[in-house]
Amino acid sequence: MKRKIRKIRGASLGLSGLLLPLLMLTACENGLDSTASAYQTGFISMDTYISLTVYGGNREEAAKECQKEIKRLEGLFSVTDPDSEVTKINEARGKTVTVSEDTKAVIARALTTGEESGGALDITLRPVVAEWGFTTGEYKIPDSDVLERLLEKVDYRSVSLEGNSVTLPDGFQIDLGSAAKGYAGDRAVETLKACGVTSALVNLGGNVQTLGGKPDGSDWSVAVRSPFDESNLCVLKVRDKALVTSGNYERYFEDENGKRYHHIIDPADGYPADNGISSVTVIGESGLECDALSTALFVMGADRAAELWRERGGFEMLLVTDDKRIFITEGAFGSFSNLSDMEVTVIERRN
Ligand code: AMP
Ligand code: MG
Repeated sequence: MKRKIRKIRGASLGLSGLLLPLLMLTACENGLDSTASAYQTGFISMDTYISLTVYGGNREEAAKECQKEIKRLEGLFSVTDPDSEVTKINEARGKTVTVSEDTKAVIARALTTGEESGGALDITLRPVVAEWGFTTGEYKIPDSDVLERLLEKVDYRSVSLEGNSVTLPDGFQIDLGSAAKGYAGDRAVETLKACGVTSALVNLGGNVQTLGGKPDGSDWSVAVRSPFDESNLCVLKVRDKALVTSGNYERYFEDENGKRYHHIIDPADGYPADNGISSVTVIGESGLECDALSTALFVMGADRAAELWRERGGFEMLLVTDDKRIFITEGAFGSFSNLSDMEVTVIERRN
């Protein structure tokens, strides 16, 4: 199989407009120490299938606690649950709402990433996301004048967060879907640690969170699935890391001509981000940070994503483009094995 690797420094990644495909992270279970038995469980929460693989003496109890914690967070962040904190914020009509430390942490990070990404991440996009039907599954292509009107009440800078007090201007609404699962992954790992677990893998439908290494001491192998078929694209070896993917395959619908409309919206125009990227995987310490970044970088496109990586640091990333190329930052390249015949470009830092 022919495999090409090239390296680039500051230059443009040479991507033109266009869009689409799909991708998924799955945990590779092969190669685990067969003497260490895992407790595995799965459940639906936060609109996704969540699986836990937990090792160690207290594994079953720890997994139960972990599940409880994720369900608790779902109760805070859901946009459809009438009792969630997010719903309270969205129905406050300009009044201040006092929120938990959890909701505060997610909003604070989302606002920071909104700033860092020049507004590519914007949690106030909720009315636009709803207009496309992505919250209910009743999809439609909105009229452009409707989108224009809705965008008048989209601006993350209008969200006031002071301590635990959140205030939105009347008519504004938030949606923490871009970062909530990442935070849940962090909390899941903290909960497992508090139960004495030192080796576990949490998979929240595309957000993978690893605690320690595998029970035999080696790194976890996390596969990134190809956006183009059912195969695995590559494997990343990690420990104590979050790997979060944003992809246009995760939620989408097609019109009668087969044109795909996916769920990651560009706040600049209210339409699905259309810049040649199929998926973005972000690797870092914090699931919350990786999740907020993955959505932002998807909207920003490859060149701006590479700029942010160089300027900001603190994370690594893997981009898959719709013309079937892989771009990976140099910090992640050492843990990367290509399983595909796609061209791989390593994004390097400037000297
Ligand atoms: P993710 O899968 O983490 O990339 O998050 C995507 C979800 O975040 C969507 O389903 C929407 O609910 C919401 N969303 C879509 N576009 C944006 C955006 N530009 N900024 C913030 N949230 C968004
Ligand atoms: Mg995200």
